[in-house]
Amino acid sequence: MARKYKGHAVGIDLGTTYSCVAVWQEQHCRVEIIHNDQGNRTTPSYVAFTANQRFIGDAAKNQAAANPTNTVFDFKRLIGRKYSDPIVKNDILMWPFKVTAGADDKPMIVVTYKDQEKHFSAEEISSMVLTKMREIAEAYLESPVCLNVMMRIINEPTAAAIAYGLDKRSGCAKERNVFIFDLGGGTFDVSLLTIKDKVFKVKATAGNTHLGGEDFDSRLVSYFVKEFERKNKVDISGNARALRRLRTACEKAKRTLSYAVTATIELDAFYNGIDLYSSITRAKFEELNMELFRECVETVDQCLSDAKMDKASVHDVVLVGGSSRIPKVQELLQEYFKGKELCKSINPDEAVAYGAAVKAALLNGGTKSTAPDLVLQDVTPLSLGVGTKRDVMTVVIPRNTTIPLRKSKTFETAYDNQSSVDMKIYEGERARASDNNLLGKFTLSGISPAPKGHPILTCFELDADGILCVTAEEKSTGNKNQITIKLDEGRLSEEEKERLIVEAERYKVEDEMFMKKAKAIRALDDYVYDMKKTLNGSELCPEDKKELNSAIDKARTLLDDGNKEKKKIDVFVEHLKDAKLIFEPIKAKIG
Ligand code: AMP
Repeated sequence: MARKYKGHAVGIDLGTTYSCVAVWQEQHCRVEIIHNDQGNRTTPSYVAFTANQRFIGDAAKNQAAANPTNTVFDFKRLIGRKYSDPIVKNDILMWPFKVTAGADDKPMIVVTYKDQEKHFSAEEISSMVLTKMREIAEAYLESPVCLNVMMRIINEPTAAAIAYGLDKRSGCAKERNVFIFDLGGGTFDVSLLTIKDKVFKVKATAGNTHLGGEDFDSRLVSYFVKEFERKNKVDISGNARALRRLRTACEKAKRTLSYAVTATIELDAFYNGIDLYSSITRAKFEELNMELFRECVETVDQCLSDAKMDKASVHDVVLVGGSSRIPKVQELLQEYFKGKELCKSINPDEAVAYGAAVKAALLNGGTKSTAPDLVLQDVTPLSLGVGTKRDVMTVVIPRNTTIPLRKSKTFETAYDNQSSVDMKIYEGERARASDNNLLGKFTLSGISPAPKGHPILTCFELDADGILCVTAEEKSTGNKNQITIKLDEGRLSEEEKERLIVEAERYKVEDEMFMKKAKAIRALDDYVYDMKKTLNGSELCPEDKKELNSAIDKARTLLDDGNKEKKKIDVFVEHLKDAKLIFEPIKAKIG
C-alpha cells in the first residue's frame, strides 16, 4: 500500500502476521524502513482488547498468552470470505478468539472490550493496524498525514519486484525474467515478471491466500498437542490459553529450525501444573509440512505454465516473505529451477513495504521527485467479459493479460429487429456469467431494425490505474453507449479474486457441461431460425410446409420451456437431429 504524505512517500505492507512501513527519502534518494516504538522494523498484525484499553502491534502480541480470547491476529485471512466457508471454519478451530456469523454470513470477530461484547469485521481490525502503521510513520517523519491523502494498493509481488529492480537495475539492458516467490505468514503469492530498462511487466500470477507460516505453526501445534496427550493423557485442544502459549513457542521453534537442526520447547506449568518440555528436529518439521511445501512448488509450476514460459528461461528467482527463509522450501525451489541460485538480497520481511514506498514516491509525481523512473505494467487478475445470451460469459480480456490495453469484440443481436442490447460486464473465470462478479451494466438502445446477427462492436479499454471503459457501438449508424468502472474501488479484494479463480477450477466440470448445453441450445435455436426463414421466404409444397411447421413447433416448444435448463444436453442434440432429418432434404430440393 502506498500513501502520499506531505513531501514524503510512505509504503505500508499490511501483512497477515507482520506489517512493515517504509519511507522514500527524497534527499538521500533511497528507501528507509521505519522502526516502531519498540525499535522493531516489523510490527505484529495483532490487536488486543482489555477492560481498559486497546493494544496494537507488539503490545498486543506480548499480552496474547494472558488474554487469548481478546487478542486478534490472522484476521486478514477472513477478508472476502463467508462464515460458512469451510476454510474459515477450519481457521476458527485453530484460533483462541471467537468468530460468529454476522449479516450476509459475514464472519465477525467477537471480543470483550471495556467489559462489553463487541463485534468487528476483519476489515475494521485491519484498519486499526493500518492506523498504527501510519502513526509509526508520523512519529518518524514528525509530520501529520495531509488531509488530501492519496492511497493506492499495489500487489505485493509487484512491490517486491520494484524493490528488486532498484537493487539490480543498473546495467539491466536486456529483458530479464524474474520470478517472485512470496511465502509470508498467511498467504502465498508467486509472480512472473519481465523487467526491461524501466518497464516491469507482470506476465502471470498465482498463489494461495491460505498458505503460509501460520499453517506450518499449526502443524507443529497439532504435533505437540498429540505428544502431550500421549505422554500425560490430557487433551489440551480446548484450552485457549495453553494453545496460545504453545503456538507462540512453535513459531519460535520454527524460526530456530531455519538455522539449527533441532529446537526445544519449554513451557512451565503448561497445563494443570504439568510442564511441556520437548524438542523437535528439522527433519520432523519438514516431514510434518512436506505436503504444504510441495504445494508451493506446484503453484510455481502453474504460474510458469500460465505464462507459457519454460523454467530455464527464468533469470532470477527472488525470495520474499518470512517463510521463504525455511531451508526445505529454498531447497525444493532451487531443485525445481535446476540448481539456480536464489536471490535473497532483499530482506524478505521488508521487500513489500520497500517497493510500496518507491511506488508512493512515483505517485507523488511532481517534477522534483528523484524517485527512480520506473514504469509498471500489471496484469488483469481475472478475465473480463460480457454476459451474452443464455447467461454465457463471453471473455473479452482473458486473465493475466498485461495492462494497459484496448480490446474489441463484435457481438451480434440475438433476434430479428432487436432494438436494444443489455451489456452486463463481469469479471471471473466461470462459464455462467451470473456466477461471476457483475461489475456494471448499461443498455445500448435505438438499434436500427435488422435481422438477428446484426453486429454490435464492443470495446474494452483498461488503463494502468485499473479504470475500465466499455463501449458498445452499432457500427452502421455510429449509435453508441458506454460505462466506466473503477476496478479497484469497491470491487473485489485480492482474496475474493483468488476465491473466484479457485472456484472456477473447482467447478470446471460443471462449467464445461453448462457451456456444452448452451452450445447445444444455441445450435437448435439457430437451426429453427433458418427453418423459419425458409418457410417464410421460399416456395414450398404444402407437404413440406406442414412438415417444416411441425418441426419448428416441436423445437420451439422445447426452447421456450421455462424448465429447459434442467433438461439434459442430449434432449437438445436429439431435437436438432430430428429437425435436420426433416429440413435437410427440403433444403436440397429448393437448392
Ligand atoms: P511475513 O508475512 O512475510 O512477515 O512472514 C511472516 C512469517 O514468516 C511468519 O509466519 C513467521 O513465523 C515466518 N518467519 C519469519 N522468519 C522466519 C524464519 N527464520 N524461518 C521460518 N519462518 C520464518
